[in-house]
Parts: sequence; structure tokens; C-alpha cells
Amino acid sequence: MNAKSGYLRQVKQSNLSQVLKCIWRMEQVSRIELVEKTGLTSGTITNLTQDLIKVGLLREEELSTGHVGRRRVNLRLNPKRLKMIGIDIGRTSYEVVITDLVGQTLRSTERPLSAADKPEQVLDAVSASLKRITADMGLQPSDLLGAGLSIPGPMNLQEGTLLVPPNFASWEYYPVRRELEARLGMDILMNDDARTSALAERWFGYGRKDPNFVYVTMGQGIGGGIVSDGEVLQGSNGLYGQVGHITVMPDGELCECGNTGCWETVGSIPGILRRWAHGAGAERKTIDDFFAAVKEGEPRAERCLESTLKVMESTLTTLFNVYDPDLLILGGKLYPYLQSYLPRIQNHVKASVYPFFQHRVRIESASFGASQSAVGAASLVFGSLMERPLDVLEALRSDEGEGA
Ligand SMILES: [Zn+2]
Repeated sequence: MNAKSGYLRQVKQSNLSQVLKCIWRMEQVSRIELVEKTGLTSGTITNLTQDLIKVGLLREEELSTGHVGRRRVNLRLNPKRLKMIGIDIGRTSYEVVITDLVGQTLRSTERPLSAADKPEQVLDAVSASLKRITADMGLQPSDLLGAGLSIPGPMNLQEGTLLVPPNFASWEYYPVRRELEARLGMDILMNDDARTSALAERWFGYGRKDPNFVYVTMGQGIGGGIVSDGEVLQGSNGLYGQVGHITVMPDGELCECGNTGCWETVGSIPGILRRWAHGAGAERKTIDDFFAAVKEGEPRAERCLESTLKVMESTLTTLFNVYDPDLLILGGKLYPYLQSYLPRIQNHVKASVYPFFQHRVRIESASFGASQSAVGAASLVFGSLMERPLDVLEALRSDEGEGA
């Protein structure tokens, strides 16, 4: 590619990205509005939107304006034609979803995993599940915009390799992206499960209106994703937003990260169970047992829940003070058990921040429930479509060529 065609390609990529983002943000928009919002000429808008309709990314919707002979045509993302794949591999299960372009899950399948399962076996099972779903849905490679993977971090994103994820021993330094790409025959985008969960909100949930938020996921561990001006931040070592490792008890329990008294050691599911049972027999208890004991009024369970909530409230207050977000979103496997305490949590956090912004403290429940990080994996594909649409569409065309 010479310098001139390289430059023209760059211009087209950036124009397409502007148009798609505008349609995503406004949900539906006329061509005239697109000209006004993007500053591109009406000729350019006509050409670009024609291309996007042809590949099935956009559809036209005719609205009556009430005036005889007047009609208004709006453009929207087309949820019918192209699909995205989201794969979430966790410590206790994996989930594969197919979503449309607006983040709706069309089909999903989940299977339990045990610590004894080797990465190769897990990836073989994931790939078999995906083949079954796409065959059931009658999807061809040219119907699929791409695939994303969500998996516990920390990881080397450049290499697509996991580093030393806690409680995930057989995956240490495993080249998961390369191995999954080889099985699926397609490129894979990946990130850690807390960040993909945040990205699900960024593209398909609260993030459409609020581009600054903190996502906190609580389950076997505690993780976070910080979205600032629509970007999920990584940091120099990929540790940005690792909220589970904020020290809440300086003399507390030893954490996987090497520090003591991290929030994760207190407020995750294993942390709660260990404190409730004082270490004795904790491994045989489940979080259902714990909340059943709370319901029955067992004093030790009640005290343990109270301290869990207190630590959570003070940490969330810290997050509001440190990141100053539009809102904070809570999710993860533990969250459904805590959801009924949300009004209390909100009130305590409000009472602990600067009075001048108390009325703006907003804490919400995650939008996609148990499938948050699988939908988030699919949203990696959506994000790359919004940022680098030409690359994504060219990959799709080369699939069509292979299929023909
Ligand atoms: Zn830690």
C-alpha cells in the first residue's frame, strides 16, 4: 500500500467509526442529523451508510412525520444480520454466547468446570459448544463479526498469554489466545473478566449515557474495571482498577497478591466463608449456607455479614473519592445475594462522601446478570467494530470469499 492509499484508508476508517459511534450513541438517526453531528459532507454520509447497509450493519426505518407526502428515514444498527461470539472461561464454569449488535443474547450455553480440567480440555469443550450453537442457529462464518474471550487475569495482552491468575494454577503462562484461535479458525480478542464486564456496560448498558464509571465484580475474587471517557483503562502493568487489592485490614489475612488484608480476602465468597467459619470447615460451606444462616438469625453469620457490608461501603466510598465516576456498577456471582442491601449501601456511601456531591452518588446493579462477562467478551468485538470498522469488515469479506 502506497502512502496515498494508506492515508485514504485511514480517513475512511475514521469516518466510518464516527458514523457508527453516532448511530450507536443516538440509537436512531437520520442522514441529515449524521451530517450535522459528524461534520462530514452529505455525499460522504450517503456513500458510507450505503456500504454499511449493504454489509448488514445498518438498517433503514421509515417513520411517518404526520405530514402528507413527508417521510423521514432513520438509520439504526441492524440486530438481524451479523452476530458476535462471547466466550467466558471462569474458575468454576465456562459460558459461550451469541449476541446481536445491540448486546442481546440470542443463545447461550454454560458448563461446569473443575480445578482438575486442563486448559486443552476446556478449550476443546468450548470449541465443541460453539460449533453446536452456530450449527443449531444455522450461522455461517460470514454471519459472525468476530469472537471475544473473557478470562481471569492478570495477563499479557500483547502475547495473549495468562500470567499467574489466582486459584487457576493449570493456566499459568498458558498461551490461551493462540490455542483458542487455532481451534476456532478465527482471530480472538481477549481481556480479563472484570474489564470485559465493564465493557458490556460501556457498549450495551449504562455506558451509552455515562462514559465515566467504575465496575466492581464480586465473586470468588473481587475485581474492577475503570471506564474513563469511554476507555477501559489498563495501567502500566495491566493492574488499573484492581479494586480487590485495596488494603482494608492492614494486619489481615495473606492475599494471593502477596499483601495482607486486601478487600478480596474479606469480601469475596471464600473470604466471607472463611471469616464465618473461623477457618474451620469453611471449604465445606457454600454461600447459600451462609445466607441461610443469616436468614435464620445465626449471630455469627449476622456479624460477618455486617462487617462484609461495612468494609464494602467504606471501599466503595474510597472508589468514589479516587475515581470520581458518574456511577458505580456492582455485579458478579456474590452480588445477587447482596442486592437487597443496595439501598443501605447507597445511604452509607452517600453519608461518607463530600456533602457537595452526595446527591450525585449513584450505585446500580449490573445489566447482564450471570452472563455479564460473556456479553462483555462479545462487546470486545463490538468495541473493535466501533474503533476500527474497516479492519473488522475486511476480515468479514475475506470469510465470505472463503465460503464462496
Ligand atoms: Zn491482594
